[in-house]
Amino acid sequence: LLTLINDTIRLSELDMTEKTIEFEDIDLYELAENCVSMLQINAEKHQVFLSLFGSSCPVCANKGMMEELLYNLCDNALRYTEAGGKVGVTVGKEENEAVITVSDTGIGIPPEDLDRVFERFYRTDKSRSKETGGAGLGLSIVKHAVSYLGGRISLDSAQGIGTTFKVYLPKDPEDHSDD
Ligand code: ATP
Ligand code: MG
Repeated sequence: LLTLINDTIRLSELDMTEKTIEFEDIDLYELAENCVSMLQINAEKHQVFLSLFGSSCPVCANKGMMEELLYNLCDNALRYTEAGGKVGVTVGKEENEAVITVSDTGIGIPPEDLDRVFERFYRTDKSRSKETGGAGLGLSIVKHAVSYLGGRISLDSAQGIGTTFKVYLPKDPEDHSDD
């Protein structure tokens, strides 16, 4: 319940938007490293192999929002992947965008639910989701953050095979490292 309350407060903070949320230069790879090391114990407990790929990737974004986004995507990937499965987090650049990919070999999302998982409180397959105990808010927070930061998100999933979320963010205009 406490998680639910915290998530709801965070959602309403995101709803307020503007002014209060600061943009700063951050390295997505560093944030992903922190997130992956924070979740490593959790992954080991569930016997899921969690790995990080990619390299330094500067963006101008809100740090707290990016941490939240990474955490929610990785938490889902671990939660909806069975023992022996894998979760991979990749940070990289494509054209003018920074891209975070969170991929898992988990249970997948039924095709009819693909459009709905970003809705608040929406969870697939109630019985199975129930024992994992979420509120159905993680992805709505992710979607909010992505749109606030001027990015977009894609979702690919096949039941019993796995799921891939890709978040595209505008690249830091100051970064000329691959010019
Ligand atoms: P919360 O994140 O609030 O603790 P939650 O994980 O159920 O709860 P969301 O993160 O919004 O909520 O996800 C919504 C639903 O989408 C999940 O209940 C699950 O059914 C499905 N889902 C999300 N990510 C994955 C994934 N990687 N693999 C399979 N299903 C997923
Ligand atoms: Mg979640």
